Amino acid sequence: MRVAVIGAGVAGLVTALELAERGVAVELFERAAALGEQACSWSAGGMLAPWCEGESAEEVVVTLGQQALDWWPRHYPGTLAHGTLVLAPARDASELTRFAARTDGFERLDADSVAALEPDLAGRFRQGLFFAQEAHLDPRPAMAALAQALRATGVPIHYGVAVEEAGLDADRIVDCRGLSARDRLSALRGVRGEMLVLRTNEISLSRPVRLLHPRIPLYVVPRSDGHFMIGATMIESDDRRRVSARSAIELLSAAYALHPAFGEAEIVELRADVRPAFPDNLPRIVEDGRVLRFNGLFRHGFLLSPALARQAADRLIASKELSDADHRQRRHA
Ligand SMILES: Cc1cc2nc3c(=O)[nH]c(=O)nc-3n(C[C@H](O)[C@H](O)[C@H](O)COP(=O)(O)OP(=O)(O)OC[C@H]3O[C@@H](n4cnc5c(N)ncnc54)[C@H](O)[C@@H]3O)c2cc1C
Repeated sequence: MRVAVIGAGVAGLVTALELAERGVAVELFERAAALGEQACSWSAGGMLAPWCEGESAEEVVVTLGQQALDWWPRHYPGTLAHGTLVLAPARDASELTRFAARTDGFERLDADSVAALEPDLAGRFRQGLFFAQEAHLDPRPAMAALAQALRATGVPIHYGVAVEEAGLDADRIVDCRGLSARDRLSALRGVRGEMLVLRTNEISLSRPVRLLHPRIPLYVVPRSDGHFMIGATMIESDDRRRVSARSAIELLSAAYALHPAFGEAEIVELRADVRPAFPDNLPRIVEDGRVLRFNGLFRHGFLLSPALARQAADRLIASKELSDADHRQRRHA
């Protein structure tokens, strides 16, 4: 069986690798000239936080998301399993109670335990929640590592090729085009997300910190060399224009509320992209002739790709086995 995967975002990369590791002949096609140039995945925070996501997502996200905690460290050694810290300023303490009531898999922290986990936050927060089993990664090197693993397995990645399904010479196709697949998946919608990257050596964090707020909950994800990703807005829109002034103010205020040292940080990047989502915010694998459409990862692309790619590979391999068995039966009849 020869499979063509369209789109080298996180969905396409993980699916191509999953198939290649199971012995399927795969080719990957990406319209952009370079990895990530036109992928929503390039803007992600890279949080692998199934239990935290349970605060607003269905239970299936919590369950399937746990597969990411095993999959990513095996494929990207830079995955850090340092947990997630959830905090709220004293005036929003009720948000912490609400968050705790909607999630599990955490321990409650007092001010001393917050300081023990993140010494630079000492004295700033009276209580918090710690989700010790969660992890995070930097999406860009993680995607580059997957692309490298594909090349090492002999999977060709064709950049600068915006393919049409009809012209593809393959037994099966997996459509991982993200929001561009709206031409075939009419229910798909865009959810705009804005983020910024700051750089400072004045503060150091070991894990993502979620800062709760009744209207604007945001997070700070530490990256290498004093970089911090601050994200992300959630706006019902497929507008890809640059970050708005309002969103930049909100993102910067959240960072400043976490620690005033962010006020002196250098702004390295401001970026907006659009998450592909179905009406229920859950991903789907849709059968359409010889094509499988894997889409709707919403805010869970890195979290859910491993589980969904496994399901897509299971389906392709099972259908191949079924058609082989059918073929053998006909020959013997
Ligand atoms: C600010 C922000 C923060 C986020 N944080 C997180 C997070 O912390 N954790 C998490 O799990 N998720 C997070 N997400 C969500 C995650 O980024 C998305 O769910 C994910 O990127 C969707 O991946 P995808 O592969 O479906 O789409 P994309 O990444 O958009 O990839 C689709 C690819 O298909 C290519 N393509 C399109 N048409 C064609 C064609 N005809 N031929 C060839 N190639 C084509 C595109 O160029 C693109 O590279 C975040 C998203 C945003 C915006």
